[in-house]
Amino acid sequence: MINLVYYLVTAAMGSTNEEIIKPHAVLLQSKELYKYILQTSVYPREAAPLKELREATATHHMSFYATAPDAGQLVALLLKMVNAKQTIEIGVYTGYSLLLAALTIPDDGKITAIDINRTTYEMGLPIMKKAGVEHKINFIESPALPVLDKLLEDKEKEGSIDFAFVDADKGNYKNYHERLMKLIKIGGIVVYDNTLWGGTVVLPEDDVPEFEREGRKSALEFNQKISADPRVEICLAPLGDGITICRRIS
Ligand code: SAM
Ligand code: CA
Repeated sequence: MINLVYYLVTAAMGSTNEEIIKPHAVLLQSKELYKYILQTSVYPREAAPLKELREATATHHMSFYATAPDAGQLVALLLKMVNAKQTIEIGVYTGYSLLLAALTIPDDGKITAIDINRTTYEMGLPIMKKAGVEHKINFIESPALPVLDKLLEDKEKEGSIDFAFVDADKGNYKNYHERLMKLIKIGGIVVYDNTLWGGTVVLPEDDVPEFEREGRKSALEFNQKISADPRVEICLAPLGDGITICRRIS
């Protein structure tokens, strides 16, 4: 996804022959600072099952999909701050952000976790089982949009969700947002991942590799839409690949 941009930026940073930094460090523009944040604030406090999942995912060919651990730390803090119990996860992959939520919400909390790919979810599942949190997870193998529409057929589901993490197909973020604005309770939080799309949002389109253009366009459109949406308070935090935090206010 953001691999080529990541390569180009790390090359520009003169770091291709040094230790390979994670794509997540791209936006920060300083691998030393990113390393410092990870080593000082993130890794010492990362739960053992999350560390195990992160390391198990690292060798997978799509490992750059996994949520950046520093962004994950903020997501966990937000989950705690709203006392999240009912949550939605759109885009699971091997489950770093899913496990993070499962470890954070109370024992009787529930996560509706949606992904079109069960195989990658099952890579992380043994670690989630070992961590004793599988009972909180309702995994649904499906495109997310029809699942959200199905949930909304039940009027009681409106305003019933405390928190959602959105990290799937970027072209649908605007559609997810409309559904989530009904499902999330007022005061609830939705976090959208990858809203800075490897930094390409500020590059002229011609300078962006062809395969990154659709993601860039989706991010640009979505960022405009969210900025103009009076139903939410927002913060676009430059953590990981950019995360947009929305608090529903009406
Ligand atoms: N949050 C995950 C983590 O922390 O590891 C990473 C998610 S990964 C970036 C994106 C995921 O979205 C992939 O596993 C992909 O299969 C899934 N996906 C893509 N299109 C989807 C759709 N329409 N509905 C649901 N999931 C989708
Ligand atoms: Ca992501």
